Amino acid sequence: MSAAAAARQILTRLTEVMASRLHAQGKLDQVVEIIGECLSSEVCSIYLLREGMLELFATRGLNQSAVHVTRMAIGEGLTGAIAQKVETLNLAEAKAHPDFQYRPETGEDKFHSFAGVPIVYRERAVGVLCVQHVEPRRYEEVEIEALQTTAMVLSELIANAELVDEEEARGLTAEQTGPHTLAGLTLVKGLGAGTAVFHQPRVEITQFMAEDVEAERQRVYRAFDRMREQIDSLANQAEFGVGGEHEEVLETYKMFAYDEGWSRRINEAIDSGLTAEAAIERVQQHTRMRMREIDDPLLADRMHDLEDLANRLLRIVAGQIGTAASQGLRRDTILIARNLGPAELLEYDKRRLKGVILEEGSLTAHVVIVARAMNVPVIGRVKNVRTTIREGDEILLDATAGNAIIRPLPAVADAFHARFAKSREKQAAYASLRDVEPFTRCGTRIQVMMNAGLRDDMSMLAMTGADGVGLFRTEFQFLVSATLPQRERQTRLYRDVLDAAGDKPVIFRTVDIGGDKSVPYLASEIAEHDENPAMGWRALRLALEREGLMKVQARSLLEAAAGRSLYVMFPMVSEPWEFDAAKAVFDEQLAYLRGKKRLLPERIEFGAMLEVPALAEMLDVLLPRLSFLSIGTNDLTQFLFAADRANPKLAERYDWLSPSILRFLKRVVQASVGSGIEIGVCGEMGGRRLEALALLGIGYRRLSITPAAVGPIKELVRKVDLAELSAAMTGWLADPQQDLRDQLSAWAEARDIEYD
Ligand code: PEP
Ligand code: MG
Repeated sequence: MSAAAAARQILTRLTEVMASRLHAQGKLDQVVEIIGECLSSEVCSIYLLREGMLELFATRGLNQSAVHVTRMAIGEGLTGAIAQKVETLNLAEAKAHPDFQYRPETGEDKFHSFAGVPIVYRERAVGVLCVQHVEPRRYEEVEIEALQTTAMVLSELIANAELVDEEEARGLTAEQTGPHTLAGLTLVKGLGAGTAVFHQPRVEITQFMAEDVEAERQRVYRAFDRMREQIDSLANQAEFGVGGEHEEVLETYKMFAYDEGWSRRINEAIDSGLTAEAAIERVQQHTRMRMREIDDPLLADRMHDLEDLANRLLRIVAGQIGTAASQGLRRDTILIARNLGPAELLEYDKRRLKGVILEEGSLTAHVVIVARAMNVPVIGRVKNVRTTIREGDEILLDATAGNAIIRPLPAVADAFHARFAKSREKQAAYASLRDVEPFTRCGTRIQVMMNAGLRDDMSMLAMTGADGVGLFRTEFQFLVSATLPQRERQTRLYRDVLDAAGDKPVIFRTVDIGGDKSVPYLASEIAEHDENPAMGWRALRLALEREGLMKVQARSLLEAAAGRSLYVMFPMVSEPWEFDAAKAVFDEQLAYLRGKKRLLPERIEFGAMLEVPALAEMLDVLLPRLSFLSIGTNDLTQFLFAADRANPKLAERYDWLSPSILRFLKRVVQASVGSGIEIGVCGEMGGRRLEALALLGIGYRRLSITPAAVGPIKELVRKVDLAELSAAMTGWLADPQQDLRDQLSAWAEARDIEYD
């Protein structure tokens, strides 16, 4: 008989038992009889977890007097070993196994062979199902598989019948129920508290046994088709999270999605009488068990991918397709995801989103920049998220320290909230610097501007007292939109932004899409061009070729700024002629509007971003063409170090305080001396205190930073003597260490400057 047929025979009979009016113990007694009979085993026993011990709950073949008497600790005897390791044992001679323990009360001495499988619920063993035989022979694979399938169905019966302590029945260990701290990498500093919500919600399986096997099979076929379609178009979607390793992960997804073995195993599980959902989970459990035996980190990574995919398949089958954003957040939330795209994050309700925990993530990935702009704390590179956090758990996120406390004890929560209140006071103190102009101790006025990207961000201008918007990322509007934003909509946004800014300047950066900022309506074109999107067809390169897009944006900006000043900046300029070409698009639109006798901007200033190192070699040619230059250190450093800014594995490798970056930046600022060109930094670097000190020390006088950093950086500026700082920096850069972090920290500390 095949494994499926054997399991099916058992399951059919189990269904009747489960549907019967018997009480739970009666059902278990019947279950052991059925399994014993179907597998022609003299003995069949069920052990369940109660008060931390495995207790014999039902048996056929062993002494009935041992029921509820024989108890084993986890790890004790063969049964304990199965539960502890969550693995199957199949032995011709039980006594020969080192873990074997003889329990005289059971009367098991006459049995030689033994096979046992864990009863698993939510990845934890809550019991053991075993069979024994007089004849010393190993059980066949079909029998073992039948046992495993039965054990899965049993977990449902056990959980429903509350046969074990509720937490235990849910398969939860102390790590999953008690307080627990997870460590990660600080991506956006800050504190946040809320309940855990998974970006990709988990599917709870409620029905294990199929009523109509054929119908279940069709459901799985359709789900596979759907999943394959999704995977094929995944590379082009923001939904993919666009993390650093996307290529590799995508390849693995593809491999699994088209893996005949995987779909065949699911099909076989359906043959045995399981629902589509249970079959997917059953195969997944099996794979998890197999993987546990292989200690290979590379395979563990791939397993992670398969888990993702199995979860995706489950969600398709169960019809739960949307992310948590589409269901809406009901309470203060800490969002949990493997990775996210910037557009996905923007779909969440800002008022309810209090923090994000990512399994991946890196400092300058756009999702992190968006989170920073939204003032949402984020930690990344957090391990064991899925096994430790449950949907709805209370979480205290301390992204500044880089950790999250899950299910905190009340005293811990109180202390956290007290600290939270203090930090809000501190924020309020920064707010009091709003009207204070940032002059250094030596009397130099530093321009502290802020970065923005959404209409809502503009309120921060008044709140922080920033000198203006040094970088308005116009592509955010493109990211949150399902279709290319029309001219009217763009004009309205730019006009609102200028209205909100009043007299303060706003530097609009033309669209920077592509790279890790993918938009659905250009996705296929971008994918077609790009194997390496960060260095690919993005930003100005894309805009110059999609001239229509650039023209529309130029016209919108010119119209929105009618009668006032307009500052336009081009991203990813790699050669001076690209700047000329981009400016020409604006000139053409300007001529058109002039021809139509429309009101024009009073003044227009054009600038470029320096993000591509090659441009630094052309400053003598470039600078005379510009009004201002802004250094995008996020992209610049990824190109200087050849290190993908979104790759989580590189997130901690290179430092903005490394001498190579600082020497480069110093040369650039020195090249601009005497040109009359305003030069500033608008990457994330400038919003961090030590990094800002370094920038001031090498000659930068304009920083555009995330709004939350404006207060802290103003405070820092007021404590600095530039001559002293620049002398120190010159010395450190002439004879450098791996990075300048220690030296700068000591320097700041000696001057009572807060630096982290
Ligand atoms: C940068 O690259 O530093 C920058 C400011 O632009 P973005 O982060 O939007 O690429
Ligand atoms: Mg950039």
